[in-house]
Amino acid sequence: MPSGKTHDRVTLWSLPWLVGISFGITRSGELTLILAGGYLFSGLMFGPDLDIYSVQYKRWGILRHIWLPYQKTLRHRSKLSHGLIVGTVLRVVYLLTLVALIGALGVAIAQLVLGFPWNWQDFAQSLKMGLIHYRLEAIALWVGLELGAVSHILTDTIGSRYKRLQRRQSKPKKAQTRRKTKRKTSRNSRSR
Ligand SMILES: [Zn+2]
Repeated sequence: MPSGKTHDRVTLWSLPWLVGISFGITRSGELTLILAGGYLFSGLMFGPDLDIYSVQYKRWGILRHIWLPYQKTLRHRSKLSHGLIVGTVLRVVYLLTLVALIGALGVAIAQLVLGFPWNWQDFAQSLKMGLIHYRLEAIALWVGLELGAVSHILTDTIGSRYKRLQRRQSKPKKAQTRRKTKRKTSRNSRSR
């Protein structure tokens, strides 16, 4: 499995390419910035390795504990964390659910203490309108997040294949050296 440093390097080295391609397609500095931000966030701290005690997990600081249920529920490198699209969908849903729960609790407490009027229907409506209005920005963010995960999954797959190949290549060598030492010891015992 590639280390956190390798994943960081891949994310940072591929960023300029991603920015170039994104700007070439969208012709928009703003969308490119959002996409690149999503890609960096996903590659450095919102990636598939949140399913273990990893660099990505540690980068959340005190907030890292919010990922404990996610870690405890998912097996490392399972399809639900390391799967294409499904991994990002699950992380986004998980984080948004937590934010919504904490937000709702905060609003309920503030309403009790300060007594200001609050209408959930109005809030949901303005959220929906905002999403419709900023749909391109939302898509750019989504693509950035997913591409960050894709770069991680690709690096994991290439790293594992490379290690398997190395192990297979080192096996015949080990067997050869074992055979040589056997021959040597038998020759030595005969000469004695
Ligand atoms: Zn991984």
